[in-house]
Amino acid sequence: MITKGVKDLRYYDSEIIIKRNNIRNIFITKSKNVKTGDIQCMSNDDLKIIFDLYDEIFFNNYFRENFKGTLKFSLSTRMTSAAGKTIYSRKIKLLEEAQESYEIRMGIKFFFEYYKVERDKIVSGIKTKDSLEAFQIVFEHELCHLIELHLYKESSCKKIRFKTMVYNMFAHTDVVHQLPSQKEIISEKYGLIIGQKVSFLNDGKTYNGFIYKINKRATVMVKDNKGTYGDEMGNVYSKWYVQFEKLNY
Ligand SMILES: [Zn+2]
Repeated sequence: MITKGVKDLRYYDSEIIIKRNNIRNIFITKSKNVKTGDIQCMSNDDLKIIFDLYDEIFFNNYFRENFKGTLKFSLSTRMTSAAGKTIYSRKIKLLEEAQESYEIRMGIKFFFEYYKVERDKIVSGIKTKDSLEAFQIVFEHELCHLIELHLYKESSCKKIRFKTMVYNMFAHTDVVHQLPSQKEIISEKYGLIIGQKVSFLNDGKTYNGFIYKINKRATVMVKDNKGTYGDEMGNVYSKWYVQFEKLNY
């Protein structure tokens, strides 16, 4: 396999900023959905556009010229912790010829909800200015997973090889994002926190408990002798899922 040194690409910080910004500007002119740095709507085609731009501007067309496998792009609204994901599936074709097949999946909600919490949004160690920049940086992280999978058949952003590559290519100093999570957005909107005492009405009866978890609804633990959940103090609880609007606190 000719790698043409794709894994050894190295740019100065100033070059990276210029390249990233070029991609941003060209992407905005090419995309039918994204017209500013504030992502309101996106399609799989946008991922293809942005991928081709990265291939051209950062990877010197490495993928266009050398990659024979298949690459898929998708958007998910169900991702709750990772904002991006690179999936590797090796299809064994006839004649036992293995074909590389990858999918880059982006958790689009993180970018739609970028502005829901007011604070700095650091992604991979970089303070982002808007949701498109955050999107690009998460995408860059996934591109490094793609390169590792393509070259080594395994990838881990916890390991030094990945961290070195992502730093040399994109000047990422970290491998995590601090984009607002659903939990944080809800905590901010309703002022709810884990452990908080709450009450709610059900069938005319008031129940008192505390918040155990926050997802799409609140998980509330209510003291109940017939409950099936116990704590180390010997208390027994039943578990309720309650809409945020129905909670009193
Ligand atoms: Zn990763």
